[in-house]
Amino acid sequence: MSDKAASPPAFAWDDWYSAVGGRTIHIDEVERMLKEIREDQYRRFDSPVNSHKTIFKNPQEAAAHIKSKALEFGADIVGICEIEPGDVYKGKTVQEPFAIALGQRMRWREFQVVPSRESAIECMRIYHSLGEVIIRLAAHIRSLGYPCKVEHPIGDSDLLHIPIGLKAGFGELGRHGSIIHPKLGPLFRMGSIATPMQLQIDHPVDAGIGKFCEKCKACRIYCPAKAIPDNRSAEAGKDHLGNDRYVVDTARCFPYFAKHNYCSICLPVCVYNHKEWAKDFEGFQTSLFPEIIMEEPPPLADDVDDAKKHAYNKLNRP
Ligand code: SF4
Ligand code: SF4
Repeated sequence: MSDKAASPPAFAWDDWYSAVGGRTIHIDEVERMLKEIREDQYRRFDSPVNSHKTIFKNPQEAAAHIKSKALEFGADIVGICEIEPGDVYKGKTVQEPFAIALGQRMRWREFQVVPSRESAIECMRIYHSLGEVIIRLAAHIRSLGYPCKVEHPIGDSDLLHIPIGLKAGFGELGRHGSIIHPKLGPLFRMGSIATPMQLQIDHPVDAGIGKFCEKCKACRIYCPAKAIPDNRSAEAGKDHLGNDRYVVDTARCFPYFAKHNYCSICLPVCVYNHKEWAKDFEGFQTSLFPEIIMEEPPPLADDVDDAKKHAYNKLNRP
């Protein structure tokens, strides 16, 4: 990755929500899962490391074992990369040299109307379910005699999930700021595990997606907050293919996101869903394009205290 030193500060989600007028989404199911993540999953992040170490022949064998366990525990995608300074939030420290990135797909059928109660629940369901996979895999790694650290998908992590996912071969960065996997599209969530266990690493992919984004602007057109840029930003550093990155204007996106069921419109409208893999594999009737509900955007979050602002605020503003 280029621009290694330019990681943004750690992100205080609760502060941000209150600064942009509050998280006004109240869905019992979402609250229940959020509470479970904070009160039950957080306390299971750690577990004892076996004093007897399982020795693998080489990093390839170790990586193959970890990947097969990740899939067995419920991950849909898994990849491994080295952790570099630019992958760590500014102000945080990660000593472990390797990250195991894990992803789980969200169900297409819950994104047939966006934003919606259903899509908000599905986002939280996957944060919770992927969290379980990660906690289980971390416990397995420790049972093999190797220490490791859980980097939960919900957001209070030390590692930045996006650069880790890109380096671990999950796909390319789309105009909407999310990774597009060549097979899963953008409808998945990510988390990771940091470990000193010696593992063979994966590599970023070039599947022509970034190139396609230059012509396609579907997410930009449908973004109700006008947060998705027309052009790449030279100020924001390069993506893993050496292109200037697209930077979503979070001062526009987040207030909308916080008021309208985590918005997510940019994910199901992304062209990379509208292929064979967008079908619902459990037999539910779905249509290829979602119904989009576009409300008036709330005021911009420019008045937010600097310490609580997202680092990319205001980039790409005319
Ligand atoms: S989540 Fe909604 S407001 Fe934010 S960038 Fe995507 S479409 Fe725009
Ligand atoms: S909708 Fe089009 S421009 Fe936006 S991320 Fe998807 S492919 Fe790229």
